[in-house]
Amino acid sequence: MRICLPAWAHSAFAVTRKEVGRAGASAAVAGGSVDKPETLEKQWRCFKMLLFNHFCIQLPMICGTYYFTEYFNIPYDWNSMPKWYKIFAECLGCAIIEDTWHYFLHRLLHHKRIYKYIHKVHHEFTAPFGMQAEYAHPAETIILGIGFFIGIVVFCDHMIFLWAWVIVRLMETIDVHSGYDIPLNPLHLIPFYAGARFHDFHHMNFIGNYASTFTWWDKLLGTDSFFNAHYKKVKEAEEKKEK
Ligand SMILES: [Zn+2]
Ligand SMILES: [Zn+2]
Repeated sequence: MRICLPAWAHSAFAVTRKEVGRAGASAAVAGGSVDKPETLEKQWRCFKMLLFNHFCIQLPMICGTYYFTEYFNIPYDWNSMPKWYKIFAECLGCAIIEDTWHYFLHRLLHHKRIYKYIHKVHHEFTAPFGMQAEYAHPAETIILGIGFFIGIVVFCDHMIFLWAWVIVRLMETIDVHSGYDIPLNPLHLIPFYAGARFHDFHHMNFIGNYASTFTWWDKLLGTDSFFNAHYKKVKEAEEKKEK
């Protein structure tokens, strides 16, 4: 199965990601939230849920992608590989589509009538860590996962693009759940990139900051107001300390 390998390769990265943050002297706990270090028990609970989701939910979805590439004759040979800038543009297009889907569906999952049935699982941890990026109810894996596949249906012209998009999306979701706003993080070179500080606040506050990758939907619809007010307070407190 040539598609699924990158999707599973991230688990080891997700575990070590936080250690990198801890080791970095200037790595800051994101969002100004109270740091609650993950325990072995929490990581084990997370790992079991990940195994279930990967084998029982994601594997069938990945197999579906395989049949999609077979049906539409998506090439995987060297000669027909698109240029790097085309892959980059396609991944950006996918991220914009996924982010839009994620914003509205994620916001819907927070509706008080349905929150407790599905999305509550992902919010079990108020201070998330890398591996928790995919800790979610199986129904949420499917609902929010659809946003990931829409871009593939729209842009897929080569297997390399599929692999690139899987890697980009996993790196992004692990980064925003890592709990560390690492200095010189290259992902912050992307305009409107949300990052760990932004999503950490969502896990702490439950309301607002619903987007996955970019900040524009929250800005446009005013759902980042709590975050802005909180961040202003944190900055003021930091400035007072420095004086
Ligand atoms: Zn989250
Ligand atoms: Zn949420």
